[in-house]
Amino acid sequence: MRICTLASGSSGNSLYIESSQSKILVDAGIGPRILKKRLESIDVDIVDIDAVIVTHEHEDHTRAITKIKIPVYVASETVSVWKNKVDCLNEFESDEPFEIKDLFITPFSVPHDAIDPVGFTIQTDNLKVGVVTDIGSVTSLVVEKLKDSNVLVLESNHDMNLLLYSQYPWLLKQRIKGRLGHLSNVQTGALLNTVFNKDLKHVVLAHLSMINNSPEAAYDEAMKIIYSKNSDITKVHVAPRKTVGEVLSI
Ligand SMILES: [Zn+2]
Ligand SMILES: [Zn+2]
Repeated sequence: MRICTLASGSSGNSLYIESSQSKILVDAGIGPRILKKRLESIDVDIVDIDAVIVTHEHEDHTRAITKIKIPVYVASETVSVWKNKVDCLNEFESDEPFEIKDLFITPFSVPHDAIDPVGFTIQTDNLKVGVVTDIGSVTSLVVEKLKDSNVLVLESNHDMNLLLYSQYPWLLKQRIKGRLGHLSNVQTGALLNTVFNKDLKHVVLAHLSMINNSPEAAYDEAMKIIYSKNSDITKVHVAPRKTVGEVLSI
């Protein structure tokens, strides 16, 4: 498999995943022209993308889906949002696995202030990628689903002190750190500590706040966990906001 973030954060999110037979995106929250260019930079033609699977309806995850001619998969509760706006609309139930060619995809509910938000695990050839961005708190379902992943793409949204002392209005701070908001670096570290396994090769920290976090703070918190596990195969990466991330191969 090849995995690569194309954009990450509140200004847009998209993750590229490739197997031997399939090429998909998790979310397409950047403009279609930028999306096409970023895919070209990793030698992928946008017309070869088999599907976009969507975590939730927020614009930073869906900006391109009404403007591209690619099958889009959304959770059933959000179909009404996209009806007659998306060319090739498909739906999934948030607890029922589905397949796209050789990819076995399992959506699962996550706590976030959207209609029917999900995370995904994507499996093929005994490999598993777990993806959760935009999740306000960690549930036992999230832990259960992310276990045994070889690659984890995890939100690490904010440093709690930076958030608390930032200029953000109080209500927005409450929303971000609330149960349906976003994960702090420490919460992400705790999740990583719980779902770590000896075959975990890559952790990609995603959806970092530009104002209330720094790549160094997010990286350090995750690395604390990796050091404590004595793992010499697990690498931690921070997804850049507006450029293509490192292309990971497993
Ligand atoms: Zn988001
Ligand atoms: Zn969101």
